[in-house]
Order: sequence, then C-alpha cells, then structure tokens
Amino acid sequence: MGSITLKQVTKNFDEVNVIKPLDLHIRDGEFIVFVGPSGCGKSTLLRMIAGLEDTTSGSIDIDGEDATNMPPAKRGLAMVFQSYALYPHMSVRNNIAFPLKRAKVAPAVIEEKIEKAASMLNLTDYLDRKPGQLSGGQRQRVAIGRAIVRQPSAFLFDEPLSNLDASLRVNMRLEISQLHKSLATTMIYVTHDQVEAMTMADRIAVFNGGIIEQVGTPLELYQKPINRFVAGFIGSPK
Ligand code: ADP
Ligand code: MG
Repeated sequence: MGSITLKQVTKNFDEVNVIKPLDLHIRDGEFIVFVGPSGCGKSTLLRMIAGLEDTTSGSIDIDGEDATNMPPAKRGLAMVFQSYALYPHMSVRNNIAFPLKRAKVAPAVIEEKIEKAASMLNLTDYLDRKPGQLSGGQRQRVAIGRAIVRQPSAFLFDEPLSNLDASLRVNMRLEISQLHKSLATTMIYVTHDQVEAMTMADRIAVFNGGIIEQVGTPLELYQKPINRFVAGFIGSPK
C-alpha cells in the first residue's frame, strides 16, 4: 500500500498552464521530496494527489487504482500543512481524535491510537492542552499525530517546517525521518530547502516551471545533474 502513479498529469488555472504533462511513479514506502523554487507547482501537484485540486488532464493511480476523480477522503492519504490547521478550541487529544471520531471509530480504539501516536511524538504530557499553549514544534507534532492515527497509505507534507526556527527545524527533520523509518509508509515531502531535500530524501524530484527536471537519489543528482538548473539547485559543480 502506498504507491502513486502520475500519468501525463496537467493543471491549468483558468487559461494558465502550471503543471505540464508530468509522469512520476512513487514507490510504496519511499520518502520522495519535491523540491524547486517558489511558484513552480509543487503544492499544486501535492494537492492534486490529495484530491484537493482536480486534474486538468491525465490520471493519478493510488495502489494501482484510478483515483483521478476520487474524493479526498477515499484516497487513504493524509496531508500535513505548514499552517498546522489545528482546532484552537479543542485539546490536543481531541485534535488528534477528530478524524477518528468523524469516522465513528470505537472510543477505546481511539484512545489506544492517541496514546501510541502521542508517545511516538513526545506529546504524552500535552494531551490536555490547547494548541495555543504549545510551541510551534509541538503544534506541528500534533498535526502529524492527527495524520498518523488515520494510518494513511501515504503522508503528504507541504513545507511542514517553514514556520519553525532553524534549530527546531533540524530536530523536526530528524523526527520526521525517524517516523518514516518506524512507520515504513510512503511520504511525499514538499520543500524549497535544498538541505532538507538532500538529508531526508530517498529520491528527489527537482521541479522547475511546472515540469520535473530530474528525479533521482540525492547522490545521483549531486554527481550526475542532468542540466545546469539541477546542478545549481542541488549545489554541485557542473
Ligand atoms: P509552489 O508550491 O511550488 O510554490 P504552487 O503550486 O503554489 O507553487 O503554484 C504554482 C503556480 O500556480 C503559481 O504560479 C501560482 O500562482 C499558481 N496558482 C496556485 N494556486 C492557484 C489558484 N488557486 N488559482 C490560480 N493560480 C494558482
Ligand atoms: Mg507551495
């Protein structure tokens, strides 16, 4: 579970084409990073995979099934936003429980999942607090916790660390990598930060103006960049 295949996917906003025909296969369990300058279409493509934007043409398969027109809730994916999107009036516990309650999961099962996610994310002592009583890093963990309890077949992160200060960002980077190791679930991680891309990714897709210039492991991109743009972006000499 967790493979995603994009075939000749495009996106227009009104008459403007922001994703050019794009093919990409994301393997089950891999950590793939979408990297590229601001405005190149990373978030748009992630939102299309999540089902939050429709596709203008082409198709999106999830686990071998055509999901192009599937509503977001049916896709089995969980999106983690940079803005956390937590409910300010609810406790951490209830924020994490929210998607499970909505899905009518049994209370005992919900409790068990919350405990497990909280211990994984060092949130056990904060379950009764409100988001306003947490640090930025803790809030980001709650948002990740809310995704974990749904046991998605893939996590979609859109610049999740860009609101955090530099030292916290390094910690959270390690925590998310650790989480990927322990869950072994597909993760798609959007960033414009080359260091995040190079340190976290199994593979990196380098975006530029609505196309993917190159996809490969950090080492491949570093050693064999396909063109000057990739070389410049990844920071290797060419
Ligand atoms: P990135 O995440 O790489 O910074 P985006 O995917 O947000 O880039 O945006 C890609 C392009 O699509 C940009 O030119 C942006 O202005 C445009 N765009 C994004 N969302 C919309 C929208 N809802 N309506 C019109 N244009 C949009
Ligand atoms: Mg973006």
